[in-house]
Amino acid sequence: MKKNNINLILKELKHKKMVALVAPSFVADFEYPKILSQLEKLGFDKIVELTFGAKLVNREYHKILKSSKGLVIATVCPGIVEVVNKNYPKYKKNLIRVDSPMIAMAKICKKIYPKHKTVFLSPCDYKKIEANKSKYVDYVIDYEQLREIFKEKKLNNIKPSKKIFDKFYNDYTKIYPLAGGLSKTAHLNDVIKKNEIKHIDGIKKVMQFLDKPDKKIKFLDVNFCVGGCIGGSHTCNLSIAKKKKRIIAYLNKAKRERIPLSRRGTFERAEGLKFTY
Ligand code: SF4
Repeated sequence: MKKNNINLILKELKHKKMVALVAPSFVADFEYPKILSQLEKLGFDKIVELTFGAKLVNREYHKILKSSKGLVIATVCPGIVEVVNKNYPKYKKNLIRVDSPMIAMAKICKKIYPKHKTVFLSPCDYKKIEANKSKYVDYVIDYEQLREIFKEKKLNNIKPSKKIFDKFYNDYTKIYPLAGGLSKTAHLNDVIKKNEIKHIDGIKKVMQFLDKPDKKIKFLDVNFCVGGCIGGSHTCNLSIAKKKKRIIAYLNKAKRERIPLSRRGTFERAEGLKFTY
């Protein structure tokens, strides 16, 4: 895959300004805040988390669900999009035409760091495919590859510095990588009834639903992987329950952190950008 050429990425890290796009699923595999120092040592000039991208995406879902009539299927997981396009063409029209948090965040980064190359850290192959197709994401490294790079470069034992994410940080969307994370954080109470929303994780169950849909469901919040993105094909082999615990601990830690206003994700930062297609 063109954008997943690790040798080239490592070479570019020595000479070019690069920004790492980190999905909140990272805590299932890496230690926080140590990962920030590891990435910095690797040569990343900026490190941003995708939680702000998730907040922007949620806003679009909220707007669309407010006026939608039939079934709406979430598209934050490219695995689901692939399966629907390939196996369920009759549902293509139900796929919501909103960017994923990765693309939303990459758009923001291209706006605020126009000279930087964007590098997405991926929990799975489907995200790698999605990154490969996007003009906003320049490179992609999966979690397994990143673990290997940290090992080779002897970055596993470094002490975490005081570094925090560079920009656009949001706490409540840190549960996005868990099954149902989208519908739990998109503040949908005023636009859709609770019993009209269904979250399903694991492609088998998703397909079972699509084969025999429940007509009262208006919004399907779905993930290809069991457990959500913490179950991605390139994540470590800890149990889903343990990974989930790590995400919740990270969320709670984030709530206590004092993040300067300049680094928080506020809607004004995204002015002029479009997250629907
Ligand atoms: S649910 Fe799985 S396939 Fe979908 S984006 Fe997350 S890790 Fe990738």
